[in-house]
Amino acid sequence: MFELHGHPHPEFTQRIRDWGFTAGQAARLWRCLYREFATSAAECSGLAGDFREQIARHAVFSQPSAVQISDAPDGLARKYLLALADGERIESVWMRFRDRATVCVSTQAGCALGCVFCATGQLGYRRDLTAGEIIGQALFMRQRESAGPDRPPLRNVVFMGMGEPLVNYDAVIRAARIFGDPAGLSLGAKQLTISTVGVIPGIVRLADERQPYSLAVSLHAATQAERLAVVPAARAWPLDELIAACRYYCDKLDRKIFFEWTMIEGVNDSLDQALAVVELLRGMPAHVNVIPLNPTDAYDGRGAARPGLERFRETLLKRGLPCTIRQRRAIEVGGGCGQLNPAAGAARPAAPMGPTVGSTEPSNR
Ligand code: SF4
Repeated sequence: MFELHGHPHPEFTQRIRDWGFTAGQAARLWRCLYREFATSAAECSGLAGDFREQIARHAVFSQPSAVQISDAPDGLARKYLLALADGERIESVWMRFRDRATVCVSTQAGCALGCVFCATGQLGYRRDLTAGEIIGQALFMRQRESAGPDRPPLRNVVFMGMGEPLVNYDAVIRAARIFGDPAGLSLGAKQLTISTVGVIPGIVRLADERQPYSLAVSLHAATQAERLAVVPAARAWPLDELIAACRYYCDKLDRKIFFEWTMIEGVNDSLDQALAVVELLRGMPAHVNVIPLNPTDAYDGRGAARPGLERFRETLLKRGLPCTIRQRRAIEVGGGCGQLNPAAGAARPAAPMGPTVGSTEPSNR
């Protein structure tokens, strides 16, 4: 079966032509998918009967179904527990920021990398998502959240939900190309952020392929020993090699990297760590985003309190390293950074909201 949402435009058109239909008919179908948000052949208007029949018999729409929808109490975020065609469950988050909306999409069902504070890592790996399944999450949420004159338009997609995007590289890049297609959602490359916990081959490949998307690297610590304690993947991809890959990326693309720092009280919130990250990233076009740890069932650590966050940020800023304390979203419904886990249920104990400074997006890192 042909996965309609899983193919960038030229490839998509070629397949339709291979079926014996015209490029114009392919363009009409593309519009049905990405401008009219059709979810079945029957909903596709303006298609000839034989074309519609071919679609119904030989193609699939990557349309998840909602199992549970959980609203954050502040009305600024909504977590979707979604079921895929094979019954696999994933979570995705819609977030509102002033006049725009951001969706956080999952790229894998579960994750094999096992960051100690992450509920997805605690779940383990189940399978990679297809490009169509990644796109399908955003279309599903966009349809429900951004349609209508008083609703903020979808402006950003962050590949920061369940899973490690650079382990599922091909599907993620295909999805990013589809999100950016001018005849579809038409999101700019900078509006698409790919996150990684530090998969070095993927970072190098992004640079070598000159992929135009924003990159966020989850750092969490500035020394190998401290990082290894929270990110087991640091054993395969050690910190010094990761930073060398990041410098290669920045040099090759003349672009900055966002470094994510989940701040855990007593673990990575010290002055020594702040000074070490300044040294580590010296001379690199970098921006550090700090966010306090969010609660998960299987990790005892506590999120750093506001004074610790601000002390850390001030230490970086005074030494010329840009740093933002990130907004938090959907914590109360288990939709915040590191909390996504379809097996954990929607409700979580409310956590005190941290400082709201800056405007970069939440993630599952
Ligand atoms: S933080 Fe990202 S890479 Fe780490 S376990 Fe969670 S989903 Fe996987």
